[in-house]
Amino acid sequence: MEQKEDLNKVFDIPFAKRTYLENSNSKLFLKLLLISPFLLLLFFFTGLRLIQNSKIISLNFLDKQIDNIPDHRILGHLPYPQISKEKLVVIEPHIEVHVDMRESLLKMREEAKKDGVYLVFLSGYRSIDLQNDIFYSLKSIRNQIASERARVSAPPGYSEHSTGFAIDIGDYMQRETDFEVDFENTDAFKWLQKNAAKYHFKLSFNKNNKHIDYEPWHWRYEGSVEALKIFENSNRKSK
Ligand SMILES: [Zn+2]
Repeated sequence: MEQKEDLNKVFDIPFAKRTYLENSNSKLFLKLLLISPFLLLLFFFTGLRLIQNSKIISLNFLDKQIDNIPDHRILGHLPYPQISKEKLVVIEPHIEVHVDMRESLLKMREEAKKDGVYLVFLSGYRSIDLQNDIFYSLKSIRNQIASERARVSAPPGYSEHSTGFAIDIGDYMQRETDFEVDFENTDAFKWLQKNAAKYHFKLSFNKNNKHIDYEPWHWRYEGSVEALKIFENSNRKSK
């Protein structure tokens, strides 16, 4: 008898234990099954958030890097090299330009003429010496301080004109608007706005430029690798 009781004790306990464990496992499994869609969603959104954050961080980092590139601006103007004499060509008396842009510039004037618009070239290449005269003589004539003058004329060594890729354009029918903001109301300017890009010309100082006054007459050529390299910094900064 005593032996039988002992046997029962031995078998009873593991059986009860097993039942308890089985019940607990299936409940846990059911719970997991119920919350698994929510867990999946949670993982999905957390992952998405992490990816987005890392993108934002890397973009911010890039922006900071671009901002940190020194642009060596003086009074708002970027420095430009003086083109070598061999690359200059005379397109009409007193107007020299970079040989790379001659064809495109003359073609643009011809095409404008076909539309009844007469473009006048006012100023092309200017040496650093000439820019020096313009900057300082006009400054003293108008009794302006350098920062005021720099808004309308670049300091020597900082003019796009010394690259040979810049051209100041007027309207033959309205010469009174030469070098004036009023030029924007001429047929020439309207035509240029619509067509200049076809000939790879771009307005250098538009109304949104925060450093330099608006110059509707001043266009630059970006149709060659050399020109693009020269104006790369300016294009990056104006974005
Ligand atoms: Zn100019």
